[in-house]
Amino acid sequence: MKYILLFIGSFILYNGAIAAQEDYTTLQKKMVEEQIKARGVADPPTLLAMLGVPRHEFVPEEVKPYAYSDGPLPIGNGQTISQPYIVAFMTEALQLKKSDRVLEIGTGSGYQAAVLAKIVDSVYTIEIVENLALEAEKRLKALHYDNVMVRAGDGYHGWPEKAPFDAVMVTAGAETIPQDLIDQLKIGGRLIIPVGPHNGIRQLMLLIKKKNRIVKKSLMAVRFVPFTRKD
Ligand code: SAH
Repeated sequence: MKYILLFIGSFILYNGAIAAQEDYTTLQKKMVEEQIKARGVADPPTLLAMLGVPRHEFVPEEVKPYAYSDGPLPIGNGQTISQPYIVAFMTEALQLKKSDRVLEIGTGSGYQAAVLAKIVDSVYTIEIVENLALEAEKRLKALHYDNVMVRAGDGYHGWPEKAPFDAVMVTAGAETIPQDLIDQLKIGGRLIIPVGPHNGIRQLMLLIKKKNRIVKKSLMAVRFVPFTRKD
């Protein structure tokens, strides 16, 4: 009898887990259709990556039911995982190709790094809150994103040992554009960064490094947690 009950119990649990996974898959497809494609993101690798990375694995237990909702979510330490649309928009704007090496500043949960890792060969990501860096590294490893390297530290000066990069993405709001990040771009490299006054609305800027000049474009108004400094 005990074994029968145990069998029935595990059957119910098993089915529960499957149902939840199916729910997440449905919600994820809906997220891509209604929040991302509907707003104009059309780059096929970006859309595939947004369909391929399980966002619910990157958020704390208590907000999992909202993992595919249309907004940022708290990830602890006063930080947030960005709105899915912003993740997709910024990814598309970098015009990535498979062989690219990408630097991200502001690992947070590791979600954006995972999206980038679906598209390009190597992703380097720096997070200033050590606890978040360690958790993201563990999570990315468990989910087999083996082409992501996480470093705990201040990303203001980039990652010179791994430079140059084809693309750099800053996922925290900066007051100015750090020169080191521009210097660490290859010719033809792209940098995307939210810039503006502290705690205000910032402009999402795209910089393209040409041979003798930097082309700057302002893409949209955004709100981001601030870029902080260690010193
Ligand atoms: N990309 C993340 C969300 C970013 S939230 C994700 O997908 O979940 C912005 C992150 O930038 C926060 O975790 C914050 O701690 C980090 N950050 C702020 N200033 C930083 C700096 N100078 N260097 C590295 N990380 C920084």
